[in-house]
Amino acid sequence: FFSDKSAKIFVAGHRGLVGSAIVRKFQSLGFTNLVLRTHAQLDLTHQSDVDSFFATEKPQYVILAAAKVGGIHANNTYPADFIAVNLQIQTNVIDSSYRHGVKKILFLGSSCIYPKFAPQPIPENALLSAPLEPTNEWYAVAKIAGIKMCQAYRIQYGFDAISGMPTNLYGPNDNFHPENSHVLPALMRRFHKAKVEGAKEVVVWGTGSPLREFLHVDDLADAVVFLMGNYSGLEHVNVGSGKEVTIKELAELVKEVVGFEGELVWDTSKPDGTPRKLMDSSKLASLGWNAKISLKDGLVDTYKWYLENVKQ
Ligand code: GDP
Repeated sequence: FFSDKSAKIFVAGHRGLVGSAIVRKFQSLGFTNLVLRTHAQLDLTHQSDVDSFFATEKPQYVILAAAKVGGIHANNTYPADFIAVNLQIQTNVIDSSYRHGVKKILFLGSSCIYPKFAPQPIPENALLSAPLEPTNEWYAVAKIAGIKMCQAYRIQYGFDAISGMPTNLYGPNDNFHPENSHVLPALMRRFHKAKVEGAKEVVVWGTGSPLREFLHVDDLADAVVFLMGNYSGLEHVNVGSGKEVTIKELAELVKEVVGFEGELVWDTSKPDGTPRKLMDSSKLASLGWNAKISLKDGLVDTYKWYLENVKQ
C-alpha cells in the first residue's frame, strides 16, 4: 500500500473533520492520486450516482469517512436522518467498492457502537453484547451494520474490507455548531464567545462527571494509513488515545486554552449520556501504533485553527 504513491485513493467525506485530516496525511506522505468529491458533486445516498462514479473512476483504495454525525442533542432530535443517511452512504460505497474492483476499503465508525454499560476500557469483542446508549442508538445501529457488512463481504467474497472505530475525535474542520456539535467544539465556541463578549458565566451541559476519551484527528489519520498498510482482519479495530478526562476537566482545560476567566455553570437538565467511554486500543498497540498528540497540545492546535477560520 505504501510503495505506490500514485495509487488511486477515494477519500469519501474529504471536507469533514476526519476526511480532511486523512487527505492532509496522504498528501504529506506524497500520495498524488486522491479522488475527491464534494457533497454537491456526488450525493453518496444516491445508489446509482455512486455506482456510476465507481464505474468511471475505478479507485483502487477507499477510505469511507463520509457520515452524518453530531452530538447528543442532534442524535436525539434527528433519529431518522442518523439511521437512514448513514445506512445509505455506507451500503452504497461498500457495495460499489466491491463491485468495481477496489483492492481495499477502510470503513470508519465510532465508539458509540458499544453497549452503554460495556466493560471499561471497551474491547472490540464488547460489540453487540448488551443494549446501546439510547441517545445515539440510531447512529450506532447504522455503524454496526457497516462493520457487519465489511465482515460479510470479506467472508462471502474475500473482499479486503476493514473497519476502524475511533474514540471521540476533535481538531481542525470540526463542527462548531452551538447545539448540534460534540462537547469539545461546542465548549470551545462557547468559551470563545464568552471571552469576546466579556461574559461572566458559561453554561456547560450535564453534571460534568461523565468520562470521555479524546483523540486528535491527525492521530486518527495516522492510524488510518497505518491500518491500510498493516491490517486485513475480520474484526474491527479500536482507535483511541488511551487517556480519559471528566467533562469537568475537559471544560477547565478548554477554558484555560481559550483564556476565558469567568465561571462554569452546570445545566443538569441536559443529558449526561453514557457515564464512561474509554476504548481498549491494545489491539492497535500490539500491531505497532500509538497516539502521539496530547489533549493540551491538540486543544491549542484546534483553537488556533478556530481563530483563523472563525469568520467562515
Ligand atoms: P457523547 O460523547 O456521545 O455523549 O456526545 P457529546 O460530545 O455530545 O457529549 C459528551 C458529554 O459532554 C455529555 O455528558 C454532555 O452532556 C456533555 N456536554 C457538556 N456541555 C456540552 C455541550 O455544550 N455540547 C455537547 N454536545 N455536550 C456537552
